[in-house]
Amino acid sequence: MKTIGVDVGGTKILCRLVDPETGKARGRTKARTPKSGPADVLASIAELVAKLDPDHEAVAIGVGFPGYVRPDGVVVHCTNISGWDQPIDVGPVLRKSTGRPVVVGNDVSLGALAEHRLGAGQGEQDLLAVFVGTGVGGGLILDGQIRDGDRGLAGEIGHLTVHTNGRLCGCGGRGHLEAYAGKAGIEREARRLAANGETSFLMDMVQNGSMKSRHVHQALEAGDPVTLRLMTEAVDALAQAIGNVATILDIRRVVLGGGMTDKFGQDFVDQIAASSSFGGFGSAKLQLRLAERMDDAGAVGAALLAADSLAPS
Ligand SMILES: [Zn+2]
Repeated sequence: MKTIGVDVGGTKILCRLVDPETGKARGRTKARTPKSGPADVLASIAELVAKLDPDHEAVAIGVGFPGYVRPDGVVVHCTNISGWDQPIDVGPVLRKSTGRPVVVGNDVSLGALAEHRLGAGQGEQDLLAVFVGTGVGGGLILDGQIRDGDRGLAGEIGHLTVHTNGRLCGCGGRGHLEAYAGKAGIEREARRLAANGETSFLMDMVQNGSMKSRHVHQALEAGDPVTLRLMTEAVDALAQAIGNVATILDIRRVVLGGGMTDKFGQDFVDQIAASSSFGGFGSAKLQLRLAERMDDAGAVGAALLAADSLAPS
């Protein structure tokens, strides 16, 4: 049996044909996420599915959205997709346009599901997956099941407070993890420092363009003191939040993925584990692992959800 997994992001939509038993994915279609509103996003998904699987080899489709998805499948809002500010029941629309059953979920939770079943979380009942990229997302698996929570907030580690009255977060709150460890938060702080006269090799490289993970990597390699300080703060903030969450939920394994993690690799994970800011009972009680599915976890997780929806309960 094959299913299709679709990962809808703020910048791109990725579509893969997956064997849900083995997690092997083949075929890949992708497109830029339309900026012209949800209807065009849904049309783009149907086009990508048709291109990936013209012979209807896949029996069902799973789609992960970057926002709050209600248990009944209604996508309430996606802050990263322009115009998605009203709840939309996407299932019936996509069922009609793709000709197959469609299930939907939150992209980060689905990434956590893929790591749990087929990646670095295998063998554990419970798992916290933390994705460090532009922001910081988290997905929670408890007793083998995705736990989104009543309001979709379960696992949202990026908005835990790590500094009272600290940096402004993209959500409007202050001192949240994402403002310290997410790429956008690091860039905001580096720009603020530069505007106040504390220039850095990082900002010299980026200038007016947008900062990429590779810029941070290069600046670190060059020994730029501002970047070094910002990354130490990122590592400490992650260690504090991860340790606290793992302690309160008694989770034994935490998986780290996302674009920034991908760039810095095992060294990043090791630094977090070694941080003196590690929350709760510390890193000795915890296995901190690098994600294995990295760039296709969201799509594979969506395909797993589609397969699960067909299984007799
Ligand atoms: Zn926040």
